[in-house]
Parts: sequence; structure tokens; C-alpha cells
Amino acid sequence: MERKQYQLGDIVQMKKPHPCGTNEMEIIRMGMDIRIKCVGCKHSVLVPRTKFESKLKKVLRSNPQAGEGNTNESD
Ligand SMILES: [Zn+2]
Repeated sequence: MERKQYQLGDIVQMKKPHPCGTNEMEIIRMGMDIRIKCVGCKHSVLVPRTKFESKLKKVLRSNPQAGEGNTNESD
């Protein structure tokens, strides 16, 4: 069985695309619940970790800044 690895700032692809048509979400908060933001329309949703993992298809891009404790938001 394959364990999906993801971290804060990653761009992930979900099994179902967002209603806006974009299928890229950015992980903007991690905890018991995970907050992901749609790259297309900037809408963010909070989902339980278990639900997130069941809906996650794959990690598209890992956050290059990971591990530096620096999460600047470029908006
Ligand atoms: Zn969207």
C-alpha cells in the first residue's frame, strides 16, 4: 500500500476537480483538519485529514520552502 506524502504548501490534485474547473489545491494549513485552497478561484475549504487523504489523488508539486519555517503567501 502506498502512503501519500504531503506537507504544508504542497500543490495537490484531488480525485474530483473543484466546481470552478481547477483541479489543483494548495495546502495552506495542516493540523487535525487540513485547509486547502483552490489555485483557480482561491476558495478555501477545511476538511478532516482522513477525508482529505481519501480524496487526494496525488501531490503535484512539493513546497520548495519546506522545512525552513517560512510560509510567505504570495498573493
Ligand atoms: Zn476553484
